[in-house]
Amino acid sequence: MKTVKLYNFLTRKKQTFKPIRKNRVNFYACGPTVYWHAHIGNLRTYIFEDILRRTLKYNGYKVKQIMNITDVEDKIIRKAKKEKKKIHEITEPYTKIFFEDLKKLNIEKAEQYPKATKHIKEIINIIKKLLKKGFAYKGKDNSIYFDISKFKNYGKLSRLNKKNIKIGARIEADEYNKENIQDFVLWKSKKPGEPSWSSPFGNGRPGWHIECSAMSMKHLGGEQGRTIDIHSGAIDLLFPHHENEIAQSEATTGKKFVNYWIEGEHLLVNEQKMSKSLGNIYTLRDVEKNSFSPLAFRYLILTSHYRSKLNFTWKSIKAAQSALNNIYEFIQDINREAKIVKNPKIIKIYENNFLTSINDDLNTSKALAIFWKVIKDKNISSSTKKQLLLEFDKVLGLGLNKIKKTENKIDKIPQKIKDLAGQREKLRANKQFVPADSLRKKIESLGYKLEDTAAGSTVLRK
Ligand code: AMP
Ligand code: ZN
Repeated sequence: MKTVKLYNFLTRKKQTFKPIRKNRVNFYACGPTVYWHAHIGNLRTYIFEDILRRTLKYNGYKVKQIMNITDVEDKIIRKAKKEKKKIHEITEPYTKIFFEDLKKLNIEKAEQYPKATKHIKEIINIIKKLLKKGFAYKGKDNSIYFDISKFKNYGKLSRLNKKNIKIGARIEADEYNKENIQDFVLWKSKKPGEPSWSSPFGNGRPGWHIECSAMSMKHLGGEQGRTIDIHSGAIDLLFPHHENEIAQSEATTGKKFVNYWIEGEHLLVNEQKMSKSLGNIYTLRDVEKNSFSPLAFRYLILTSHYRSKLNFTWKSIKAAQSALNNIYEFIQDINREAKIVKNPKIIKIYENNFLTSINDDLNTSKALAIFWKVIKDKNISSSTKKQLLLEFDKVLGLGLNKIKKTENKIDKIPQKIKDLAGQREKLRANKQFVPADSLRKKIESLGYKLEDTAAGSTVLRK
């Protein structure tokens, strides 16, 4: 087994990954809050987590990945109130859309997707223990809070400046910033018009942070005091979410909660974090509406390192789409001619280079550079290329293994039709959608159709 190196936010070092149990990895990824479509910033994080999962598997590890669905939380409740709906009427459709997005992005399924509302019993049990051990108390508002002064390692993950701790203060909102460190809520006492569950400490609902502690501990052995190998999310979760998860979990079990904290950087728009509250978001539907394929978005994400900020532009996704189209065309050509013939020596060198890159804290941009080097290498046969690219795609997930199916349809498109499709592409790029649409109709009237496949807009015979 090769060495996987990962940057661990707990130690702020790139470290050799060592699982607790030989060849097995327990991995928890903070999942979506399902009150609207995921934006492509969220999706960047799920893609990096998919690369992490695939890299571990590629190295021979058996991975158990849990991704939670946050289906009760402040923002969901606000939206349900506004729309006069029950929370499940908000969360169910968006959970469905979330899974559709994952599929389109070729993100492998996690082993389980537990929901917060199905873990109220486990949440209550943790709070009971925290109250008993003196780490939690009831506030004047009847909500239960975690007393951060009782947990001596509070701040170890996000390296808090203790000067910012507001002693004796407490916050009921789930989200707050580093300048506002205070006791955080575990159980929110019932408010009119809000969903609630009964508990020994009164009717109410869980805070957001305790939900993840309960679900990760239940599904990955934490309830028995077993440390979890990896916990991930994007960098905004470092504080307070992940910090609070550590405090609650370690105060409950007395054991280390997680060994490796892997946090991805943000997707930006106009150099600002993409977020629903700033209103600067795009969804995967916007990507598709602009005739780019979800896998072009995946390709774009892989061109940068997961710990670097990435500024999203339509120009950059266009370049990604074009690179992906070239890859697909190349694979289609190979598929027609090449049978795999083994060429062990060269294969080994390329495989080693690829593995070294991806194992170096998931260096996908370097891995992609090796991928392109294979495509362009004049000294190796098509069959060797095919074997290597399909192998690399087990990690990159660009869907190369599915290309075969269209191989007969793609060729023999007359040049005239290709030119029309090209003109239409240009019009769309300039946002001239009306003339672009009439060109589509013209192409259709000539017996062809345009299909927005994973390879972008492809011309097919009708
Ligand atoms: P949420 O649905 O808001 O709970 O977020 C789901 C995941 O997306 C979390 O891991 C967040 O940290 C992450 N996330 C939120 N905004 C961004 C962004 N602009 N870029 C990358 N990841 C993000
Ligand atoms: Zn979480």
